[in-house]
Amino acid sequence: MLANKDQEKTELEALGEFGLIEHLTQHFPIRQPSTVKGVGDDAAVLDFKGKQTLVSTDLLIEGVHFDLSYMPLKHLGYKAVMVNLSDIYAMNALATQITVSLAVSNRFPLEALEELYAGIDLACKMYNVDLVGGDTTSSTTGLILSISAIGEAEADAIVYRNGAKANDLLVVSGDLGGSYMGLQVLEREKEVFKVNPNNQPDLEPYSYIVERQLKPEARKDIIGLLKDLEVHPTSMIDISDGLSSEILHLCKQSKVGCNLFEDKIPLDPTVIAACEEFKMDSTLVALSGGEDYELLFTIDQKEFPKIKGNPNLTVVGHMTAENEGAHLISRNNSKIPLTAQGWNSFAKT
Ligand code: ADP
Ligand code: MG
Repeated sequence: MLANKDQEKTELEALGEFGLIEHLTQHFPIRQPSTVKGVGDDAAVLDFKGKQTLVSTDLLIEGVHFDLSYMPLKHLGYKAVMVNLSDIYAMNALATQITVSLAVSNRFPLEALEELYAGIDLACKMYNVDLVGGDTTSSTTGLILSISAIGEAEADAIVYRNGAKANDLLVVSGDLGGSYMGLQVLEREKEVFKVNPNNQPDLEPYSYIVERQLKPEARKDIIGLLKDLEVHPTSMIDISDGLSSEILHLCKQSKVGCNLFEDKIPLDPTVIAACEEFKMDSTLVALSGGEDYELLFTIDQKEFPKIKGNPNLTVVGHMTAENEGAHLISRNNSKIPLTAQGWNSFAKT
């Protein structure tokens, strides 16, 4: 669970900044035809040949966005790339390049950064993207990691947040709440470890949810699926903060309302079991947990037969006129206003 103390440690100073960049990036191949020049010059050069270019950036701070006591650096590298690719897929585009910028304190040996880059490398390989640049500097406070993702799409294929219409169906990929419950398990094990460092946690029963937290996958496959099914979403967003706040983003930008049905929210059985164990409400976890990196989109009702019965996609509700507002329709059929925190159970309708 924690870093192996016996591993070899090479001080970063021994390499110098240029030696470090060269060491970390030397084995990254160029896979994309759009990459004209990758790492090694003052700027990368890309050529998308008439397609539109998408750019998205995320900044991750140690202690704010990740905790290295249970997040292995390889997983951190992989997840940091996923977070960014997910934003590109959420536009119905394909990711093609990333840049990686890091600020690192000298408590990290070279071997730690090699682990980080092993995760980045695996992500690039699995998702067919090129590492084309970045920046490297020192930090006094730990690790700061910023990744930018670049993608491409035909102009008419791009899906924005603002295209949903009243009566469109609201659809989500995969299942929700797993990442948050995985985090609960890891936080609990961290506390147990503090008390008894010899305790070996048995995470096996929680493997699905722990993996959802430590090694999430961006839903590139859903972009391919939608293309194959010839489904063109009217609006789309990725679920990084929780279903509730993402729905509110779609509603606000599309100027529509929404009815979300509690009994339709897709939950894995292990999420339900973990919620029972931690005495948490599984609906609230799905609405507010976040970090699921599933896709949330709206489609015209006419498209429903194309997605009906697909195990990767669940219709969770429908859009309404803007003045009807955004609501959760609970299992006992009460209508509860959605808030960015999940729902406001005290509000009157
Ligand atoms: P400059 O001084 O012009 O900013 P750098 O020496 O920082 O150039 O970078 C040299 C090359 O290495 C550039 O192509 C840059 O994009 C790349 N690079 C720098 N840091 C990283 C990193 N952490 N990961 C990947 N590429 C990097
Ligand atoms: Mg630089």
